[in-house]
Amino acid sequence: MSDSLRSELDRLEKTGLRRALKDFDTPPARLMTCGGRTFLNFSSNDYLGLANSPTLKTAAIRTIEKFGSGAGASRLLSGNLGPHRDLEDALADWKQTEAALVFSSGYATALGTLPALFGPGDTIILDKLCHACLVDAARLSGARLRIFPHQNLDRLEALLAAERKRAPGCRLLVATESVFSMDGDLTPLRELVALKERHDAWLLVDEAHAIGIFGPDGSGLLRQEGLNDAVELQMGTLSKALGSAGGYLAGSRILIDFLVNKARSFIFSTAPTAASAAAATAAIELLRKPEGRRRMERLHHTIRRAGKILYPFLDGAKPESPIFPILVGDAETATTLSENLWEDGCYVPAIRFPTVPRNGARLRLSWSAFHQGKDVDTLAEALRSRWPSIGTT
Ligand SMILES: *Cc1c(COP(=O)(O)O)cnc(C)c1O
Repeated sequence: MSDSLRSELDRLEKTGLRRALKDFDTPPARLMTCGGRTFLNFSSNDYLGLANSPTLKTAAIRTIEKFGSGAGASRLLSGNLGPHRDLEDALADWKQTEAALVFSSGYATALGTLPALFGPGDTIILDKLCHACLVDAARLSGARLRIFPHQNLDRLEALLAAERKRAPGCRLLVATESVFSMDGDLTPLRELVALKERHDAWLLVDEAHAIGIFGPDGSGLLRQEGLNDAVELQMGTLSKALGSAGGYLAGSRILIDFLVNKARSFIFSTAPTAASAAAATAAIELLRKPEGRRRMERLHHTIRRAGKILYPFLDGAKPESPIFPILVGDAETATTLSENLWEDGCYVPAIRFPTVPRNGARLRLSWSAFHQGKDVDTLAEALRSRWPSIGTT
């Protein structure tokens, strides 16, 4: 059996698709050290630089001192501690929903939620570029799976109409992201809401890359669009802009009560640590203060400036989010380019199949409030020298 594993790894290696872990010796921050060398970090989803913030660290440390290092049991046994309830109250208040439920990760949120609500006989319709956790969750549910081309609402409408005709009484779900994780584009949420209402479907919006960046106090694109009451399943992670770990589902009280009873990744998994819950609550509180606003403004300033300076590398797109995809095409070229930039002291990961489509290999760089103005120039210079055919056009 080891032989077959080895030959499969060799195959990945030959096509530029083999992955390996890098060991960093420093906290996740602007500058990170690996193998004795220091790199500018363009790979992080820590969009506001909160993962290493004194406010969150202090909240986590105090909570460990009070509640210990592990929760010791699932939420439904003795693992439901004060910091979990505080976080869920803070999330519901921030998202302006009736209630919220915290899971051990965003991935576990999707994996618990979809199979609890949908099954054989129902239909789940996904945007083609939805995150793996939504795809896996939809498959696990046993519901019929339909895919529409990325952001193509006409095709979505046709699928909705067809499914409603085929099975008039079935549960029907559209699942998408408000900011797409590998392309950074924003979803037209109002149009989507109108569509799902017309066809009596539910909508799941994953705000993993929108919270902390858009909306009042960074509460996401749904609130920015005034849609907090219109979307049944509002999902996200505590591990990106909120600088902690865990996932959440926000929605109606009845939905949350149902998930407590039916979501298997919630029921059969130990509660997230009290410390990670407290850190996430501290992040939400910080976002409502001037420091949070300053961090968001700083991030958007960097996005605007980087969008202008890196324009030649962006395929004509004008980025609206901190995620900048630099499309390369084949995996080997993307890997080489990433390695070249690494030699120049910039960590910009190559994203390859199966994270993105086979011919869609890219560099994915993400901006954070921790970046400085000169980091944009440093990266632009490295890209121009490593990819002169593009940088000079
Ligand atoms: C990262 C991510 C998740 C998973 O969240 P984790 O808390 O890291 O498990 C879910 N959806 C999207 C779109 C993501 O980018």
